Amino acid sequence: MKHTEVAIIGAGVTGLAAAGRLSPRNYRIFEKSRGPGGRLASKRIDAVRADIGAQFFTVRDSRFQATVDSAMAAGFVTPWQPKMGTFQDHQPIASPDQQARFVGHPYMNSLGRFLSQEIEIQTESRVQMIEPSGDRFRLILTSGESCTADCVLVTAPVDQMVAMLQYFDVQQLGSRFAMDPTWTTVLSLEEPLRGSDGESLDALFGGDHPLFDFIAVENSKPGRQSDLLVVHATPEWSQQHLERDSAEISELIRQAVSATFQVITQAKLSHRWRYARPTDPKFTAQKGIYQVAPNLWVAGDYLAGGRVEGAFLSGLEAAERILAR
Ligand SMILES: Cc1cc2nc3c(=O)[nH]c(=O)nc-3n(C[C@H](O)[C@H](O)[C@H](O)COP(=O)(O)OP(=O)(O)OC[C@H]3O[C@@H](n4cnc5c(N)ncnc54)[C@H](O)[C@@H]3O)c2cc1C
Repeated sequence: MKHTEVAIIGAGVTGLAAAGRLSPRNYRIFEKSRGPGGRLASKRIDAVRADIGAQFFTVRDSRFQATVDSAMAAGFVTPWQPKMGTFQDHQPIASPDQQARFVGHPYMNSLGRFLSQEIEIQTESRVQMIEPSGDRFRLILTSGESCTADCVLVTAPVDQMVAMLQYFDVQQLGSRFAMDPTWTTVLSLEEPLRGSDGESLDALFGGDHPLFDFIAVENSKPGRQSDLLVVHATPEWSQQHLERDSAEISELIRQAVSATFQVITQAKLSHRWRYARPTDPKFTAQKGIYQVAPNLWVAGDYLAGGRVEGAFLSGLEAAERILAR
């Protein structure tokens, strides 16, 4: 059985930020999907790709700013200056603001690719269970492989973390940091998206709309050439329609977009995020990390405000704790 000093579960922003601070000799990073980035996801549609998870990120902390500056200098991240809108009385209206926003270039998961440049990831490796094993831990993968570790950092979303750590006392943590689902639909749109006053818009927050949570015109982000529109549904609407078929969701959202903006659209795909964003992002753990047992930590955006920056800072703090142990 293989042994590693530190096992990191998940190669999203949290896991990558943590791994980037550790020496590659000392850790193994297990990721269930085929590549890094986690919820900074994009999906191929015909010959192009669309961002189907986080649409942009903001920066407040100087440590994240330094990383974003390096990613921009290397061409993996770029500023995004959309003409913003929102919904008032369910109607789309312009709502300009001064917020600095950033996107991955040419897709959101380019930030994941940037953070993982020096990091070897064991992809398509789903950790099923983590057990205590003397003063170590034993990780059992769904492939049947297992390995031991002196120290473990779990960065999977909270419900998946709880499922993995059944031998430990994490039930209460799991019930405090619930996550909401999001249905995401990608549509094609051959004309500009316009608010009620006729002004063209690149992105809209949901405002008081019962269905729309965020809408983004893909080609308003630098590096995207497609005619695609990404629509995130509100947590309430997504929860209400959670178990419906993705084709039905595509049609419901297509109809809502057509009726609201008076445009002809074609639905390309819908993606169900069961664990998209924390239910209450204001509810955070101190420094975005929680120690479950000696040498066993959990970290992630759900403990740190629910955004890309929170995930990054949570990962940095995890690395500090691991190095100081
Ligand atoms: C629809 C949507 C819209 C969003 N919009 C924004 C936005 O506009 N701005 C913003 O800042 N943030 C936004 N976010 C949130 C942002 O994407 C997250 O805060 C951030 O990406 C979380 O990073 P993370 O590393 O903590 O978690 P994740 O990205 O979820 O990474 C966890 C990783 O663990 C892996 N994993 C899970 N279980 C296992 C297992 N058993 N074994 C191995 N690997 C496993 C997963 O595959 C994943 O790669 C949005 C998210 C969604 C879904």
